[in-house]
Amino acid sequence: MSAFVRVIVDRSPDREFDYAVPKELAGQVAIGSRVRLPFREKETLGTVVGLLDESPHEGIRPLTALAGAQNEVRPKLIELARWMADYYACPVETAMRGILPQVIRKADVGFRQQISVERARVVAAEEMTLLERKAPRQADVLKALPDGPILLTELARSANASEATIKALVEKGFLRTSVAIRPRDPNDGETFIPSAPLVLNDDQVRVLAAVIETLESNAEKKPLLLHGVTGSGKTEIYLRAIQHTLDQGKSAIVLVPEIALTPQTTERFRERFTTGGHQIAVLHSHLSSGERHDEWHKIASGAARIVIGARSAVFAPVTDLGLIVVDEEHETSYKQEEAPRYQARDVAVVRSRLENCAILLGSATPSLESYRNALSGKYRLLQLLQRVDNKKMPLIRVVDMREESRRAKGPCLLSEKLKTAIESRLEKREQTILFLNRRGYSTSVICNACGHVCHCPNCSVPLTFHRAASRLVCHICGHTGVPPKICPECRDPGIRHQGAGTEKIEEAVGRIFPKSIVRRMDADAMTKKDAYRETLNAFRTGKIDILVGTQMIAKGLHFPNVTLVGIINADSALHLPDFRAGERTFQLLTQVAGRAGRGDVEGEVFVQSHTPFHPCIQFARHHDFAGFQEQELDFREKCDYPPFTHMILVTVRSPHEMRASFSAETLARRLGENLPDGTILGHAAPAPMERLKGYFRFHIILRARQVLKTSRHLREVISRLTFPEDVIVTSDVDPYQLL
Ligand code: ADP
Ligand code: ZN
Repeated sequence: MSAFVRVIVDRSPDREFDYAVPKELAGQVAIGSRVRLPFREKETLGTVVGLLDESPHEGIRPLTALAGAQNEVRPKLIELARWMADYYACPVETAMRGILPQVIRKADVGFRQQISVERARVVAAEEMTLLERKAPRQADVLKALPDGPILLTELARSANASEATIKALVEKGFLRTSVAIRPRDPNDGETFIPSAPLVLNDDQVRVLAAVIETLESNAEKKPLLLHGVTGSGKTEIYLRAIQHTLDQGKSAIVLVPEIALTPQTTERFRERFTTGGHQIAVLHSHLSSGERHDEWHKIASGAARIVIGARSAVFAPVTDLGLIVVDEEHETSYKQEEAPRYQARDVAVVRSRLENCAILLGSATPSLESYRNALSGKYRLLQLLQRVDNKKMPLIRVVDMREESRRAKGPCLLSEKLKTAIESRLEKREQTILFLNRRGYSTSVICNACGHVCHCPNCSVPLTFHRAASRLVCHICGHTGVPPKICPECRDPGIRHQGAGTEKIEEAVGRIFPKSIVRRMDADAMTKKDAYRETLNAFRTGKIDILVGTQMIAKGLHFPNVTLVGIINADSALHLPDFRAGERTFQLLTQVAGRAGRGDVEGEVFVQSHTPFHPCIQFARHHDFAGFQEQELDFREKCDYPPFTHMILVTVRSPHEMRASFSAETLARRLGENLPDGTILGHAAPAPMERLKGYFRFHIILRARQVLKTSRHLREVISRLTFPEDVIVTSDVDPYQLL
């Protein structure tokens, strides 16, 4: 039994501390235990990461108590946190914060308990008579009592008595109570119709065999990359792989992008595994902290053998992990944009290595990072290149919007071709999806006379006009303002809206097709809790003809009656100063187009663009992933961009421009001294989005073939420098947001 423990103290990122194990806790403290302890002048919490027979330090204080007996971090997850700290250049404590949900960390929410009561002894006739006279309400309760135990609240209701009355009977010894845990169930009251496994087609049989081979193998398991076109039946592969994992007596984690964590997705899993007693835990951002607490314990205790969740589910405390599935592995929402800044897909690959479990990454448009790993043999590539039942890929037509606006003699929202296509769908009672990656009414407000554009006072972005709210809104910081009637700069009344958002499309479509039912699905329209589910249900049951929306409708949805998809502006993501702009455009077009023609009728897609011959648009049009990745990898290699290097983005920000720029320059200079071999260091420069939420921002970009050496160097240099108090330095390894 160890006399001392080494602890990572919450909120104290600098180092680890030793504590003594008091007698009353002897033998109860293990690696991963969450403990209460005195720290500086307060009591706080920490995680035990080491057991020691002696400690080199003096004046060691004892631990206070265990924080909830079952709140433990699994040793493998501590190992994972250490890897994250090293790789992502952050303190281990920060990584630990990502691993353990807040509600478990703070240990201030417990199980929901329920009190049941039952008869404690037989009541003699004379006792009853006495009770009827002196306490008639209590007598009523005894008469209403069923044979077995009953919930206290329920008895109070059925006997029409207060809880105090019942408690009085307990005190008198007529009744006895028992306490039981009642799990909170986020899916309370929902039923699922069981689904049977489908008969696999030849391609699926081949892919599943490879997955099972990996699941069964005892050697080190290579990650699997499943490249399957939209509608090729990837989900059925996931379901079969999970079934096999359960049959092996193990558990599975399924990661899906938050935005795809729709009822429609989770239902497919629940329907398959509803029988057989394998509980499914679902982790997403809309759970209450009580529900999150219970789901976590359901997983930790082994009651839930399947976990479905967004990126943080990669840290689910599963004990006998057999398989991790990462669906839509290319999705940028796997990247956490605040500390700890990690990429859940990459962390999943590392966890699979630590636990020697299988990992299956799936996508219709694999990220170039993963695809290159497959080409180089680090991953095993599996392919499903045909849609199920030989359904055709949708026909993609690119509409040249330069020509359209010339013909319309002005900016054009919906091309004639798209309008005609919508009209024919309305006649045939088929459904249409219109996609635009921009919410609000117009994208900017500009003065006709002087060209002034209304900008956010805190950020370097134009304000978006929201018509329903009649407000100008900053999509970065949320600043809102009243739309001006005259130009604030030159006082000219000719101020007008430029560019279109989903609100404007919804309005235009409603005007052009007055008899159709149009609904909008974006963050503004979906503020109410069940709005999302309701809209999807209405769409699925054919109560909506045309659905206008943002990314929210681009991912993972499956509507057999959608035969037309219109992409209003394919160029919006293409011209950003970001080396992934082309990749994102290709992915988005492919994913959105994939929503069309999933039923019996072939689908058609219209892509409106001002640069119709751009290679990314053309490759997407021809469903040519191979051609796209070849050209894109070639470009990345020539420019030393990822996946050929790892990028580390250091952002230095301050409310004072000079202090930010000076600190950034100092940092860049110090980084340049004894830079590890093979690292490319860029100059400190203003960020493309120079101002954000009131901060002035400067970037330093590092690129390295071997990221670990460089991130260690970075962490060390930063820890040795002292910055002015209002200067904040953040490091982002393998960043996605470069603005
Ligand atoms: P993906 O995830 O690759 O886009 P899905 O898994 O959603 O594709 O599959 C598309 C549709 O094909 C779903 O309705 C699914 O139930 C169906 N499907 C998948 N595999 C089969 C199969 N072997 N036989 C019949 N239908 C299948
Ligand atoms: Zn702003």
